[in-house]
Amino acid sequence: MIPIIDSKRQYATVGTEVEKEVLEVLRSGSYILGKNCKAFEEEVAEFLGVKNAVTLNSGTDALHLALRALDIGAGDEVITVAFTFVATTEAIGIVGAKPVFVDIDPDTFNIDVNEIESKITPKTKAILPVHLYGQPCNMDVIMDIAKRHNLFVIEDACQAIGAEYKGKKVGTFGDIGCFSFYPTKNLGTMGDGGLAVTNSEFLKNRMIALRNHGGAIRYYHDEIGINSRLDEIQAAILRVKLKYINDWNKKRREHAAFYNELFKDVKDIETPKELDNTYCIYHQYTVKIPNRDEVHKLLQENGIGAMIYYPVPLHLQKVHAYLGLKEGLLPNTEKNTKLVLSLPMFAEITQEEQRTVAQTLIKCVELAKNKISV
Ligand SMILES: *Cc1c(COP(=O)(O)O)cnc(C)c1O
Repeated sequence: MIPIIDSKRQYATVGTEVEKEVLEVLRSGSYILGKNCKAFEEEVAEFLGVKNAVTLNSGTDALHLALRALDIGAGDEVITVAFTFVATTEAIGIVGAKPVFVDIDPDTFNIDVNEIESKITPKTKAILPVHLYGQPCNMDVIMDIAKRHNLFVIEDACQAIGAEYKGKKVGTFGDIGCFSFYPTKNLGTMGDGGLAVTNSEFLKNRMIALRNHGGAIRYYHDEIGINSRLDEIQAAILRVKLKYINDWNKKRREHAAFYNELFKDVKDIETPKELDNTYCIYHQYTVKIPNRDEVHKLLQENGIGAMIYYPVPLHLQKVHAYLGLKEGLLPNTEKNTKLVLSLPMFAEITQEEQRTVAQTLIKCVELAKNKISV
């Protein structure tokens, strides 16, 4: 069995260090928003090249509190994509705003920047691009549109920590960038964790208050906040792992290049493309194939842990039925939902395993073709 991700193998490289740090936290008596959180906020801000980092309980909370900090709520519209994890639009729903969907560019799976302006209305407050699969969005165009229309930009960089657009880390272009440390993310902790980053002192302070019951001073509450604090154990783990993230991302890129090589003469398998001047970090290595569902099933039977991210676009999910959106609204999103398949990808995967994945996939694509034509 070759899994899509193998967290145990990563643990083998960082485990000793992690155990030492975690034990120290356990013995310290300080468990929430202590010295590790503070140190991690400084270290990750430096890594990303941004002034302020606010640790939170999850990536979902980062998106939620980013919207809150920008006073986006009922009656407001936020432009985003339907080809993403549900948390992106869930956060918009939590604050009472309305997601307005733009189709994707089928080459990058990210927001089609040419369609954004046609969706802007007097109610639009922000653009919320998602750097899906670790692939940077076209930030020059997005920032230019936002500037001309006086809109905020919140980046969902939950899958893209360390990815770069023109030499600058994604998540640092807009007003606020959101990251997740869910265990399977490129920088994952051993529980839940999240982060919001901003160059604005004002937005930093608002998010610091919102994450801790809406008050900057303990027991003085200015507004309704939430409880979204990172705990010291997770912060200590993240501090250890942050030292490895560049190396892990680099390895993922090497594995992506190797997959590309293995599939280069296979006409039925479309390999991922990269936008010029970007550093994609391959949170997922996602190919497009015909007869995807059948191939997926065959792969599972043959011990390859491939996954479909995501099988149903968000505009067609029950959760957004209240928007009354119909199939056909986002042709590229809907089409790609039926083609995409993500293959095993993690820093520790071996070339031998990648060869097995590639050979099995090529075989399954052929098998599915014959099965379906008879
Ligand atoms: C993981 C993820 C989130 C949510 O992060 P959590 O930490 O799981 O709450 C949001 N958006 C995208 C694109 C993600 O992949």
